[in-house]
Amino acid sequence: MAVAPIKVTSETADILAAIPQSIQTQRDFFKSKMTLDVEFRIEQLRKLRNAIVKHEKAIFDALKEDLNKCEFEAYGTELGMVLGEIDKCIKNVKKWAKPKKVKTTMFHFKASSYIYKDPYGVVLLISPWNYPFQLLMLPLAGAIAAGNCVTLKPSELSPHTSEIMTKIIQETFSPEYISIHNGGVATSQALLKEKFDYVFFTGSTHVGKIVYQAAAKHLTPVTLELGGKSPCIIDKDINLDITAKRLMWGKLVNCGQTCIAPDYLLVHSSVKADLVKRIKEVIKEFYGENPQKSKDYGRIINERHFKRLVNLMSAGKILEGGVTDAQDRYISPTLIEGVTDEDLVMQEEIFGPILPIVEYNDINEAIKYVNDHPKPLALYIFTKNDATAQKVLNETTSGGGCVNDTLMHIGNDHLPFGGVGDSGIGAYHGEHSFDTFTHNKGVMDKSLSLDPPVRYAPYKLNLKMLKSLMKFN
Ligand code: NAD
Repeated sequence: MAVAPIKVTSETADILAAIPQSIQTQRDFFKSKMTLDVEFRIEQLRKLRNAIVKHEKAIFDALKEDLNKCEFEAYGTELGMVLGEIDKCIKNVKKWAKPKKVKTTMFHFKASSYIYKDPYGVVLLISPWNYPFQLLMLPLAGAIAAGNCVTLKPSELSPHTSEIMTKIIQETFSPEYISIHNGGVATSQALLKEKFDYVFFTGSTHVGKIVYQAAAKHLTPVTLELGGKSPCIIDKDINLDITAKRLMWGKLVNCGQTCIAPDYLLVHSSVKADLVKRIKEVIKEFYGENPQKSKDYGRIINERHFKRLVNLMSAGKILEGGVTDAQDRYISPTLIEGVTDEDLVMQEEIFGPILPIVEYNDINEAIKYVNDHPKPLALYIFTKNDATAQKVLNETTSGGGCVNDTLMHIGNDHLPFGGVGDSGIGAYHGEHSFDTFTHNKGVMDKSLSLDPPVRYAPYKLNLKMLKSLMKFN
């Protein structure tokens, strides 16, 4: 049974006014030094894991209500990833948190050098609605492992998932340690007015700039996990069947509302016709004759985004799909050709099941197109030719990406996940998450057994001797 949505009437003056006090209690809790104890962190991660497992059904129901997410996708892209991250943190946090011994240059003889892993302190996490559970809970695991207190601000646009996450957090943690604040822009901005020790934001590039400015006022370091248009280049030399399937899977998971979904195709003109034909078949194989009836096909989050997407479909010529149902917030998988750079669909992040197709004749044209636009969060290249793949990887910049697949790089927690340029700052997942929420403190521990007087004034070494001494590295 679905949980009732929380009312976003929480942005009352009283609740907003309580925010500074809430952060002060977290600051006090951090000073108690409890979070410095790695055993304490492991215990909290275990509690979080147990609470998620206990509420698994309610989480599934909430994701169904908010996004019509089926259980398979909900587990594969949300719960499963979060539980995997928690397990990884539990298994490795002792090792990660230990000061790391590093080399000391000869010039500093006799000394040892270490990188201490300091938690930042009180961390703010702000998340979006498209993977509403994963994008709040996964960074939370890293922030806990690194020994921080955490203030959470989920999206107001996925209220059922926010409700169950609120229940999980409030049942599991005291608010001095981990607190959750529901609400929209006013709540987010009231939080951002306060000084945090770290801000981790996932959302649009536009709001990312607002968050960055707010954090700059306090000189607070940030991770900005942003969005944008992620291109997918299709070479002339491909495995047609696998390309069509992996491409459309990545485009249509969560109804295209994925930050790293292939946004548009750059297709070699010699394979375009065959690819379009195979894509049309693949859509039927995935979702049947009528995707609206498929239990595996999602819905658009709300009316505003539905209208925005319908508007994007007015450009070019529809090759497939274009079917909409406003009541149901349904948009069928849609292929468009004949679009230009002036069309809105080629200017803004699509974030829905619409795939524009742009042709090229030479791989250098495709690379130039990518490089003439803001640096993407992800870039995909489908090719059987390794030299072509390497050329694309070497001559473009993106947050990350795949060769001959889509989205999958996000699932490997050995890889840092994040953007570059307009698509973001910083990265996380696995040990990268721990490092994101950790200050690396460089410390030299100097022996008292030797104290050569050469460094003290009045200086007796001449410059030539100093230069040769400083070569000992
Ligand atoms: P959004 O930027 O509108 O909202 C994100 C969060 O910011 C929400 O919690 C919201 O309440 C808050 N917010 C909104 N306006 C604000 C303002 N003016 N001041 C302060 N806070 C504000 O993003 P969204 O619509 O929820 O999510 C979609 C975007 O997020 C897309 O651009 C997508 O690419 C991006 N995204 C990125 C990643 C990633 O990992 N890089 C993952 C998912 C989504």
